[in-house]
Amino acid sequence: MGFKSIAVDGPSGAGKSTMAKRLAAKLGYLYVDTGAIYRTLGLFALKRGVDPADAGGVEGLLPQVSIRMDYGEDGLQHMYLGQEDVTEAIRTPAVSRAASQVSAHPAVRAYLLEMQRGMARNHNVIMDGRDIGTVVLPDADVKIFLTATAEDRARRRFEELQERGTDTDYDTVLREVIERDERDSGRAAAPLRRAEDALLVDTTGNSLEESFEALLQTIREKLA
Ligand code: C5P
Repeated sequence: MGFKSIAVDGPSGAGKSTMAKRLAAKLGYLYVDTGAIYRTLGLFALKRGVDPADAGGVEGLLPQVSIRMDYGEDGLQHMYLGQEDVTEAIRTPAVSRAASQVSAHPAVRAYLLEMQRGMARNHNVIMDGRDIGTVVLPDADVKIFLTATAEDRARRRFEELQERGTDTDYDTVLREVIERDERDSGRAAAPLRRAEDALLVDTTGNSLEESFEALLQTIREKLA
């Protein structure tokens, strides 16, 4: 019997990772955060002094980069750049921006595709990203598209950054959220869009708690 997969896509700050992590824990699936892979490459470009928006420059980095994903004893996904654990280092606003820029290059997407598909071949997964239901796992058993208004998503992102002790303000976060949305949805390569067969969940104004139970119920029915 093959493994089951659940795709969770949507714009940044819609609550994908919180939702996917909790669903994974309930269902006993492996949670795969694909944004972390793009973030690790974005960090590598910044470290090497390569402009993340420069397609040729970033493509030239691909044969040199070593990105590894591992699950620690805590059961959480850790990202490694070479030997270095960059799990925390990839969560800064500068890396968010770089990730969104490197992810627009088709060569980057092609390069990272197999790593993502490999995870789904060997585990029951719940994978979150932008193109999981459309490109990475078009045959996923369940597809969810999670969204909310830009203001709501910026508020969540802002609170998250504050908890991490990052010095920023709401207006800056909102501007960056809108900018990233435009880039993620407007790019030619695997743009952010809802798969036709994805379940649309709008979390605006809702606590994720409210959306969670309904979603869990729907998923269980679909997987049965
Ligand atoms: O999900 P997260 O915000 O961590 O992703 C960082 C960036 O990586 C996104 O803004 C998006 O540009 C890119 N990404 C992508 N495809 C995915 C996951 C993330 O293009 N499947």
